[in-house]
Amino acid sequence: MSDLTPAERLTKLTTLREWLAWQLRDTERKIGELEQQTREPQSYISEQAIRDGHPLGVVIHRPDCGMIQRPATRLTAEQVRFALTKDAQHFTACDFCDPGSALGLT
Ligand SMILES: [Zn+2]
Repeated sequence: MSDLTPAERLTKLTTLREWLAWQLRDTERKIGELEQQTREPQSYISEQAIRDGHPLGVVIHRPDCGMIQRPATRLTAEQVRFALTKDAQHFTACDFCDPGSALGLT
C-alpha cells in the first residue's frame, strides 16, 4: 500500500471502510435473526389429542406454529418443560415448530 499515492490510498481505504460497514450491518442483522429464533417463548400451546388414548397424546407447539388444528390452550414454559420431560407418555413436541429446542430439551 505504501507504493500508492495518498489519493489512491484514500480511495482504497474508503472502499474498505464501506465494506467493513456493510459487514457490521450484515452481522448485526444475522445476530438479530438468531436472537429472535433462540429466544424462549413466554408461553406455548397445547393442542388437544386427536382422540383419547391416541399415541401422540397432547401435542405441544410454539405459540406461532401454523400446524395447530385442534382445540388448544396455553401453557407456561415450566409446564411444557415438565410435560415433555416428566410426562412424555401423554405429551409430544410438534415436529414442525420443535418447542423443545427453545427450552434446551433437544
Ligand atoms: Zn408446532
